[in-house]
Amino acid sequence: MTKIPGTPPPATLHLVRGEDAGVDALGPDAVPGPMCRIKVRDGVRVVAFTGTQLGHITSERQGSLRWTELSIYRTQSNLFVAHRVGVSCVAHRVDCAVVKDKILPSIVDMRSDEFAVEDRQPCQVCRPDIAAELDEDPDSIRGETDRHWAGICNDGVSLINALHTMRHGVRSLSGLASAVLSQASEHDAQLSDALNTELEV
Ligand SMILES: [Zn+2]
Repeated sequence: MTKIPGTPPPATLHLVRGEDAGVDALGPDAVPGPMCRIKVRDGVRVVAFTGTQLGHITSERQGSLRWTELSIYRTQSNLFVAHRVGVSCVAHRVDCAVVKDKILPSIVDMRSDEFAVEDRQPCQVCRPDIAAELDEDPDSIRGETDRHWAGICNDGVSLINALHTMRHGVRSLSGLASAVLSQASEHDAQLSDALNTELEV
């Protein structure tokens, strides 16, 4: 718990990675909690604000190695923040063909908001025996890192636009984006209006 001077108490500090990943996002919608301090990653930077979560959804299923999480926040200053994380818990041998062109960190040397060593799952191609191989050489097992993106939007229409993705050259709203927008719109009249407005093209 970190108190930020000048903001309404209590101010809880969240660094969001995917702590809510275990929650069934298709279950009952959470009612937005009180305003708190929230930090989300956007590439290499951190976006910090006082706000509340309007929606959260994940594509994680039992046994998933990689999945996407989407969250929507409303800030105290009335902005919308969308946060998308491409999550991975996969660990590879350093010489795995799947990651031969990538420089991945050793799993013992990753950011604290990435998957912990003990929660890493072996790549299905190089199939490392993570514990045994780490024991022999701590640098031999590399971890895929999460990919974070944050969009800061002035209004509901911009938020919806920011959540469009390009697939095969076509710009569209994914099922996951549609679901989190529907969830969030139940708690925000402006977003609900934007979502219910036909898009003139
Ligand atoms: Zn591998």
